[in-house]
Amino acid sequence: MIRNLLSLPPVMVAVCWSLWLGLLPSLAQAAISIAESPDDLNPSPRVELLEDPERRYSIESLLEGCQALSWQDSEQEALNFSFSGSAWWVRFELVNDTSGPVRRLLELAMPMHDYLDAWVVNDGGAVVQSWQTGDRRGFDSRPVAHRTFVFPLYLAPGEAYSVLLRLDTHDGLFDATPLYLMEDERFLAKSQRELMAFSLYFGALLALMIYNLLLFLATRERILLHYVVYLGSFFLLMFLSRGFAFQYWWPNWPTFNNQLVPVNIGLFAVALAIFSDSYLNLPRHSPRLSSVVRWVAFLSIVSTLPALWGNYGPLFLLIIPSAILLSMSLLVLAAWRSWRGDILARLYLVAWSVLLVGITLYLLRVAGVLPYNLITEYAIQVGSSIEFLLLALGLAWKINRLKNDKIAAERATLEMQRLANQRLEEQVMARTLALEEANRQLVDMARTDPLTGLLNRRQFGECLDEELRRSGRSGQPLLFAVMDIDAFKTYNDTYGHQAGDEVLVRVAALLHTHFRRSGDRLFRLGGEEFGLLFEADSLEAGYEALERFRASLEALGITHRGAAHGVITASFGLVTCEDQSQIVDAQSLYFQADQAMYEAKAQSRNRIVTRHLASAREGLAE
Ligand code: GH3
Ligand code: MG
Ligand code: MG
Repeated sequence: MIRNLLSLPPVMVAVCWSLWLGLLPSLAQAAISIAESPDDLNPSPRVELLEDPERRYSIESLLEGCQALSWQDSEQEALNFSFSGSAWWVRFELVNDTSGPVRRLLELAMPMHDYLDAWVVNDGGAVVQSWQTGDRRGFDSRPVAHRTFVFPLYLAPGEAYSVLLRLDTHDGLFDATPLYLMEDERFLAKSQRELMAFSLYFGALLALMIYNLLLFLATRERILLHYVVYLGSFFLLMFLSRGFAFQYWWPNWPTFNNQLVPVNIGLFAVALAIFSDSYLNLPRHSPRLSSVVRWVAFLSIVSTLPALWGNYGPLFLLIIPSAILLSMSLLVLAAWRSWRGDILARLYLVAWSVLLVGITLYLLRVAGVLPYNLITEYAIQVGSSIEFLLLALGLAWKINRLKNDKIAAERATLEMQRLANQRLEEQVMARTLALEEANRQLVDMARTDPLTGLLNRRQFGECLDEELRRSGRSGQPLLFAVMDIDAFKTYNDTYGHQAGDEVLVRVAALLHTHFRRSGDRLFRLGGEEFGLLFEADSLEAGYEALERFRASLEALGITHRGAAHGVITASFGLVTCEDQSQIVDAQSLYFQADQAMYEAKAQSRNRIVTRHLASAREGLAE
């Protein structure tokens, strides 16, 4: 076809050209007059569009061809081809009807166009300026080093020009593109305004990120790290899609720059899922939903991987539904938690709703449903700023709550510890008392005779030493008696051992009632034999006290058929001394008393035989 066109005689070419320039414009848009238009103009409603599904046309074929091409008026506020497998041609006419040369900057304010070619053609049909750029070509292909595409148009006075653009994609997705035709000053002012707004936005995100990172390092709360990663992936996504990353970070790596966009969307989905999971505490509240969220996030990132091998366009068709699925499930979860009274979830719900409104507006614009305007252009920035601030507030709230929970738990632990200590102390105290009591009992048991409660024979020696010292100090006479119950074997034989025991107990009780002075000591020396160590004002008084006891025992009248008196009686051997030096030791004292007692037994029992130590040093007398 092109060869056919080229073989046409020059006259015919001129006719075709005059038809194209002369006849068609009468049907098409009117040329833009430089003199009459403002110095900041949106040419979008004045452009004509030509779809090129098979990519048949080139600039040469368009300039030379006279075939009836179906250029169509656009009349839209921005170029928007949405999802389209075609290449698109854009054309508008420009007349410099001023008296001097003019320079205008034509901006295509969308940084992500894959392939963008532009030509300025004068009314003689000659190309006077041309550019081949796009974000799949190196950054140095741009005539003006700017994140969007800016073409300087030089227009001679009195000349008419056609401006032709060819937009093509690698992946079938065209984002909405506003067009501006501006004087240099206006462009500079606009560009500075935008840069200031973006700087504030990215600066705020960065500050939030660094602040939360420092907070994480200080507190080691994992959720802060999740928030930082979430913020970071969003920051990168925005920095990429607004063209800053390509311009400043890797201007020579256009392919990498393009691949990073879908990968980053996947990363963002994962970061969002992990952050939301811990923010809403899903593993605790609903482990099953938590794993669903993680699976959706995993699918999102897997669906982005083919972009690394260049299979890039159709992925958006996958990423967008899975992103919508993820967002919706998070929203539903947050709504459910909010409904259950979780304040954090309410904050999350508001925050996410705001961002989702922003994203929805943006996506609807990408899909061509909504027009391009300031709201649809910056909705994500505004929404995300509000979202991140609300989430930061929620995080502060959550960490405060964690801190309070921790303090309460610490307090409870301390209280528990205090109670346990107190209980332990009480137990130790009770055990100590019990032990002391047991020890006391043991000591008593070691000292006393269990049947009668009198001191046992072992105590006799110790007590005697003590009493000798004491009565030595007080100067009072010391008396010691051995008492043996008469015919006790017969009693046992007659009344039984049990009854015998009872007699022993009664005799001991009677002893207690008779010998109650502080220095009196009563012993059970063995069997039915007792020892009495007692004080008296005089030897006579001591003897009388013992005699009173003997008589009381007899008077008790414990029947004993086998005894001489018909009742229980006892025989006594009494040893008295005024000079204690006479007493060699406990054993000899006992021996003396025992001897006296046997004498009493021999003298028909139930009587006292006395031996006085002091009266006869050379011998013992009764
Ligand atoms: P005598 O008048 O010569 O002292 O005669 P007796 O039977 O009292 O003396 P003997 O020494 O022959 O007997 C002492 C008895 O005391 C023998 C024993 O059955 C009894 N006896 C010793 N200890 C206990 C005891 O703890 N309980 C009882 N029931 N009887 C005891
Ligand atoms: Mg005896
Ligand atoms: Mg006896």
